[in-house]
Amino acid sequence: MPPKSLYIHVPFCERKCAYCAFASAVPKKGERGLYLEALAKEFDIRLRGTRLKLETCYVGGGTPTALSPAQWNSLVATVEKHFDFAPAAEVTVEANPNSLTAEHLKIWRDWRVTRVSIGVQSFDDAELKLMGRLHDADGARRAIAAALSCGFDVGADLIFGLPRQTFRGWGLTLHEAAHRGLSHISLYQLTLEEGTPWASLDEKLLGDGYAAYRWAQWYLPRRGYAQYEVANFAVPGRESRHNANYWREGEYIGAGPAAVSYTAGLRSKNYGSLARYAKSLEEGALPIEESEELTAEKSAREAAVLALRMTEGVFAENFIKRYGEKNYRSVCSAMQKFPRALYEIDNRGIRLTKKGMRVANIIWSEII
Ligand code: SF4
Repeated sequence: MPPKSLYIHVPFCERKCAYCAFASAVPKKGERGLYLEALAKEFDIRLRGTRLKLETCYVGGGTPTALSPAQWNSLVATVEKHFDFAPAAEVTVEANPNSLTAEHLKIWRDWRVTRVSIGVQSFDDAELKLMGRLHDADGARRAIAAALSCGFDVGADLIFGLPRQTFRGWGLTLHEAAHRGLSHISLYQLTLEEGTPWASLDEKLLGDGYAAYRWAQWYLPRRGYAQYEVANFAVPGRESRHNANYWREGEYIGAGPAAVSYTAGLRSKNYGSLARYAKSLEEGALPIEESEELTAEKSAREAAVLALRMTEGVFAENFIKRYGEKNYRSVCSAMQKFPRALYEIDNRGIRLTKKGMRVANIIWSEII
């Protein structure tokens, strides 16, 4: 069955945040135009006239709102030229508060966008400044209100474990997020990544991530946000279908620099450098830097890890049908090395408990 999910990576940000190692850069003159032309070529070459019908589409980055409204019109025209959409398709766009404009929102409303995911990160001005964000808390509030007033499902990303972040400070950010009409809240723990200005920070300065995460797991469900994945909470029924497709091992196309695709058992990654990506397309070739055909055993292990990200976990029957009894047993025995308080196992399958979610990385490394 052809993929029904499309991810488009916009590799630009207005400024790099101090902690960020994502594939994005401040665009030089002409690079946004180059990117849009190259993206159109990627679809031409990838699809060769076939029109796929999408159930989900996600435009992320980087910062999609680093594209101007006029550039957004061009992006929309390119996508419409190549894809059809299912009647209830979920279309998500990421936005940063400082660059989100009324024009962006209008274009998205007139197009097919159903969800807007805003990079809020914190409602504390001092934390935002420290991170090098270009917005303050009021800017985040205005962006959320503007997106809500257009009728979108609105989500926010928040970061915990920041330098000198107090438990109370994190609590206030969570409290505010839970009272702003959001339907989705994603939580990320700060990690100190190589090659970023914060790479050499002393880890002792970081806020207590374990306590912050525990608090979120306790607090958000009491405000109507159910945890459905390790880092994601949503009003029931408003979970991200696009991301759930990744976790349920569905196929997808990733377009744009550094984007990853997974189709027909093959995972491939585009060149991260915009220049290299565009050059490859200019020469008529797909801009693939690396690809990997997953063996049955590797697929099974990855599928188990992806499924365990979600609270629904691994469904034994489906898993065995697809990967066989032996692979299922091997996942079960990996799990048995951990205390029972971290996971549940029964005839239906295996799933992590709340406690298990808190140490999920350790569990996954045992399975992989
Ligand atoms: S806006 Fe997002 S993608 Fe861009 S530098 Fe900051 S964290 Fe990274």
